[in-house]
Amino acid sequence: MNQLPKGLSYVNGRLNFSDFPVSGIAEAHGTPTYVYSETVLDDCLAQFPLNRPGVSVCYAVKANNNLSILEHLRKNGAFFEVASSEELRRVSTATNQEVLRNCVATGPAKSVNFLKDCLSNNVFSIHAESEEELERIEILRQKFPESSTKVALRINFDTSGEAGRSSLPTGASSDKFGVAPAEALRLAERFHIEGLHYHVGSCVLDEEVLYEARDHALDLVEEFESKGLNIAYVDVGGSFGIPYVETQAPLNIPLVIDRIATPFLNKDIHVFIEPGRSVIAQSGILVTRVEYIKSTPLKNFALVDAGMNDLVRPALYGSFHRILTEFEPPINPEKKSTEMTIADSPVSPTSDRVLRASESFRLAENSKPVPSPRLSRRVDSMPPDLRGSRESFDDLLNELQGNRLFKRTYAPVPSPRTVRRSSLEGPVKYDIVGPVCESADSLGLSRTLPRLRMADLLIITDVGAYGYSMASNYNSRNKPAQVMILSNGGVKLISRRQMLEDQLMLERNLDSFAHS
Ligand SMILES: *Cc1c(COP(=O)(O)O)cnc(C)c1O
Repeated sequence: MNQLPKGLSYVNGRLNFSDFPVSGIAEAHGTPTYVYSETVLDDCLAQFPLNRPGVSVCYAVKANNNLSILEHLRKNGAFFEVASSEELRRVSTATNQEVLRNCVATGPAKSVNFLKDCLSNNVFSIHAESEEELERIEILRQKFPESSTKVALRINFDTSGEAGRSSLPTGASSDKFGVAPAEALRLAERFHIEGLHYHVGSCVLDEEVLYEARDHALDLVEEFESKGLNIAYVDVGGSFGIPYVETQAPLNIPLVIDRIATPFLNKDIHVFIEPGRSVIAQSGILVTRVEYIKSTPLKNFALVDAGMNDLVRPALYGSFHRILTEFEPPINPEKKSTEMTIADSPVSPTSDRVLRASESFRLAENSKPVPSPRLSRRVDSMPPDLRGSRESFDDLLNELQGNRLFKRTYAPVPSPRTVRRSSLEGPVKYDIVGPVCESADSLGLSRTLPRLRMADLLIITDVGAYGYSMASNYNSRNKPAQVMILSNGGVKLISRRQMLEDQLMLERNLDSFAHS
């Protein structure tokens, strides 16, 4: 039995997230929509030592910068890692300015304005990444003599071999991040450095990689000490992976963090942790609707209404996200082996026709009626709780069925509302692709799913991190809505679907912005 990702379960044949029917959210808010579970978020956050003395958990805002999410994380004890002035302002908007005193600022190319914002808001630490940045900070500090902001150095331990095992390594010497340990020692003689920072990469599931980085950092702390330089805090970064694939073993985050933090705490060194993905990824799903099913001699495509502008990770990094149907896949053990054969081979012209017919129409005047036991099964009436929610598609079908041209060729078959998912419908291999005009525009390739129809809902899982925060307006598509299912059972809109007006506003009425 496949284990569903956190918070997801089938109840009476329909997918629930955090005990709320996913179809209800799609009806109320449309698709595509990002949906978050407060309960799952709280579970993930609770893995981190929010109340341990000497430790600060600074959530990496870039993973998901939504104001409601930031506010919620602060209420539960998190502080923040910010990588731009805009992130810094998001944090103070969602919480208050005082919170910034416990936050850390990172980034390989911090602008003068970002550094000024850090100094004037007394951000706890700027994690500098180069000699020139240290010089810049020194000059700017003269303008903010009262600022309590400290400076740390981001170290690049050249863990390329190790972090190569992470999906997005940043800790190799060929990367743009940080300075080499020897360089750090040299710079510490010229500048007042109070802390060290490192960040191995992203999505590390091999804990040994994290321990190796910790050991490098402990060695460097000792080298600093041997030169009479005191290190007051170490920021051990984020990087904690989550299992995107069922077969991946999750990290035991409380244990791993204890093993990383304890040696530093024993030396009276304060520890900052900057988790992003491991806090928010699993709490988010993306709900999308099938627009079309298209079968070619080589492949079956499910064309859905979410594209790479909504979720870019698969197109950009080849990332894998599990994809579930909103209806519970039929279970039929005896049929499984033969159905798998169908799934693995391209759909034949005949079965393709069956597929189309099954979606909504049946070829009427065409000489051969489709001999389909599947079809006759589907006309059975179905209990209300198994009905799809497809009002807009029903309207479309009604319109099509009233069309003369259409009538000549097709006779209507019962509306999809009365379609039953038969266990005879075996799994089919689909490429789940979006509406954007780019061949990279996909959400998942070669996914074996129960046979899909127009208007079915699909759920892309584990998209809470680097999902919406990387969304764009490519193809002039509006960014999707975001809602959160609260622990008390309520549903809260946390960002509305963008409107075209939001985009056009940047390009109209520019007189007051133009330089004279
Ligand atoms: C992105 C980033 C993080 C968060 O990384 P995750 O892998 O999402 O935990 C933490 N620190 C820095 C400096 C980052 O760039």
